[in-house]
Amino acid sequence: MRQLIAGNWKMNGLLAEALGLAGDVAAGAEGLSCDLLVCPPATVIEPVVAELAGAPIAVGGQDCHQAASGAHTGDVSAAMLRDAGATWVILGHSERRTNHAETDALVRAKVAAAVAAGLAPIVCVGETEAERLAGQQESVVGAQLAGSLPAGFAGVVAYEPVWAIGTGRTATEADVAAMHGFIRAVLLRHLGAAGRGVRILYGGSVKASNAASLLALPEVGGALVGGASLVAADFLAIARAALP
Ligand code: PEP
Repeated sequence: MRQLIAGNWKMNGLLAEALGLAGDVAAGAEGLSCDLLVCPPATVIEPVVAELAGAPIAVGGQDCHQAASGAHTGDVSAAMLRDAGATWVILGHSERRTNHAETDALVRAKVAAAVAAGLAPIVCVGETEAERLAGQQESVVGAQLAGSLPAGFAGVVAYEPVWAIGTGRTATEADVAAMHGFIRAVLLRHLGAAGRGVRILYGGSVKASNAASLLALPEVGGALVGGASLVAADFLAIARAALP
């Protein structure tokens, strides 16, 4: 399966900036051996989709509400993202889990809403630094997977150790390989043979200089990239490091 390189722009990008970044990524995206995805802020999804028309780059949201519609002031539904042209959505990012108290059960409901609206979900899991220091990374991530993935899940999982996100610190290759192997085993246990087809992305301070070694590790199906996805040259360098 092709590796997926996904850019999470987070809360960055007014219209002009977003269009410039999308255009620069599109200019270098031909002939890559990976799948490419950018996840801009919801307000610019539609113009970014238009800017990327014809380019081999998908567009995703960064969150959606679990309900199809209704009295949820300020929220965005999965169908609204789809309507704007998105085909993917990131769910359960650690910044959502921390800043908005998102639970595994809520993430699971959001995954169901996303799939019902025709979006492919990327479900994020990962331990905090305190949990890793206590040796709890497998129990924490195992519980997140069990709680966040609905039966029959066929999306993508992103392993993002919280302490590596936006910090410049990357998990060691041995730790990434161990956690991705653990996550694969959990997916096979929960989903049966279908668990083999779930791509497992690594996220946490991926940059051009470390992408090749991370993407070459067993069970690494791509990368979820935050900071480095805001610079087209850096994001494209990571995409070029994907396995053929
Ligand atoms: C992220 O936000 O998912 C992320 C991995 O960020 P960064 O690459 O900046 O660590």
